[in-house]
Amino acid sequence: MTTSATTAEKIWSGLAVSSGVAEAVAHILQDTFDEPPEEEIQPEDVDHELERLNVALEATKTEIRALQERTGEAEIFETHLMILEDVSILEHVRRTVRTKHRSVDSVYFKLMRKHMEALRGVDDPYLRERFIDIKDITQRVMRHLRGEDRSELTFDHPVIIVAHDLTPSDTVQLDREKVVGFAIETGSTNSHAAIIARSLGIPAVVRLHGISGELHTGERVVLDGDEGLLVQHPANATLKRYRQIEAEAEALDDLLQSVCQQPAVTSDGRTVRVGANAEFVDELDSIIESGAEEIGLFRTEFIYLEEPDASEETLTELYTEVVKKMGGRRVIFRTLDLGGDKLDPMLAEEPEPNPFLGWRGIRVSLGRPDFFKRQLRALLRASCHGETAIMFPMVSGVAEVRAAKRLLQQCRQELRDEGLHCVPESIEIGAMIEIPSAACTADLIAPEVDFFSLGTNDLIQYTIAVDRLNDRVAELYQSTHPGVLRLIKMVVDASRQHNVRVAMCGEMAGELELTPLLMGLGLDELSASTGQVPFVKQAIRKLCHRDCEQLAVAALKEQDAGVIHEMSKVIARKFYGDLLD
Ligand code: PEP
Ligand code: MG
Repeated sequence: MTTSATTAEKIWSGLAVSSGVAEAVAHILQDTFDEPPEEEIQPEDVDHELERLNVALEATKTEIRALQERTGEAEIFETHLMILEDVSILEHVRRTVRTKHRSVDSVYFKLMRKHMEALRGVDDPYLRERFIDIKDITQRVMRHLRGEDRSELTFDHPVIIVAHDLTPSDTVQLDREKVVGFAIETGSTNSHAAIIARSLGIPAVVRLHGISGELHTGERVVLDGDEGLLVQHPANATLKRYRQIEAEAEALDDLLQSVCQQPAVTSDGRTVRVGANAEFVDELDSIIESGAEEIGLFRTEFIYLEEPDASEETLTELYTEVVKKMGGRRVIFRTLDLGGDKLDPMLAEEPEPNPFLGWRGIRVSLGRPDFFKRQLRALLRASCHGETAIMFPMVSGVAEVRAAKRLLQQCRQELRDEGLHCVPESIEIGAMIEIPSAACTADLIAPEVDFFSLGTNDLIQYTIAVDRLNDRVAELYQSTHPGVLRLIKMVVDASRQHNVRVAMCGEMAGELELTPLLMGLGLDELSASTGQVPFVKQAIRKLCHRDCEQLAVAALKEQDAGVIHEMSKVIARKFYGDLLD
């Protein structure tokens, strides 16, 4: 690696959300829907400008034809081609460039946005669909005008992705083999970029405000996901220090690797099942290597985002692949949790004023029973091939669980009537507990399910009324807030009363400093991001369950989130300080 002697090292400081260190070139991901600046052009450049438009239109057309062939979706893409080639739109753009001497990027963008605005509020569902089509076309053309194409998301060398924000749909388009880190301007510990980074076991730093405007694609940088730093123009001494840190981390990894397949049993004999959270089929090998005993949460939204129109057949194949690959380990599939930040708001029928309190999770599924049944049928068919469980997201009370189970029962009956006798008589059902009303009524939900899974990422945001993605209120987002602990305790108590298991699959389950507290509160299963699994298992092995129970009793009497966190950390430090450093 070379470091320019004339360029001084610059350190950017943000929030560390996924640990590890990466040294690679930066790749800046532009927001494809940013309005381009309105640039004036010289009269003699008009022809060149119009030629740029032609080239972009041609490239977009080729891209759409290829998609049409690959997906077999004739109709949608025909509509896209019609919009792309619409004579009145193109005439208007060409005329404006010729007469007003403006760059084609801003002229095209403005006109298309005007068409989108006109369609945004209309009631007619057909026209509302056209809104999405126009947006899609505009994004494609804009990308080609900027000289980017889809292949910019596949790389032939390791890269650190630098972006203002990374949506779930961005992450599904990335070449995950080559991405070794995320450096993001916004976000928080529980934004999806952070969760995905932890799943992939790569470092991530968020809140690096202004960074995407200052870095350049191809520039070599160091990303420090432990300290929350990005080093631009790293000096040789810095590189040496980071390589030393990496070597130490590798030594600890080797040690954990040698014991990670063993169960997680405390020194006084309490066994806790440790699983991994998964989003993509290509993560499964690393999940198995991590020692995960199950997939405690399979977020099916990502498969959906990769192929929104997947048929029941395709879904069955994908889910079956997951079940088979896990080789007898249980897979807990969460049914679609669309909405909130997991659905492009443009895809919602109308923009919602408050998507996190809106049409999300089980509400979307129950509101579209045919769509939901397609997923349930595919899950039931996959369950013929190995241990499978289904859990429902964003449950607010027992009625939704009952309604979802009724649809599941219908699907089971239909499949059996169709002759698919391998579909099991019963399948394990879980409710995610991530809304305070569900926690408070856990005793009513318990008789309907086999297990609870605490989704603390949302439970914390809804309990404290603090947006999990908003860095302005991030200080208030406290996993050890007494209100959160009381709700967890309530859920554990209800689970004991009704003899159902209680798991945690929110990011809190992988917070090593809190493992003593979670053990003390009585969690039966913890499902963490893959990278954390060997650490959590080793931490549990070092702990004494009785000490943890005493800690939990004391913690539940405390008033201050910071004090509670510290109480747990003291025990963590005493028993496995080496894992925390
Ligand atoms: C949670 O809310 O804790 C959870 C696991 O679900 P998600 O992060 O996907 O909303
Ligand atoms: Mg959630």
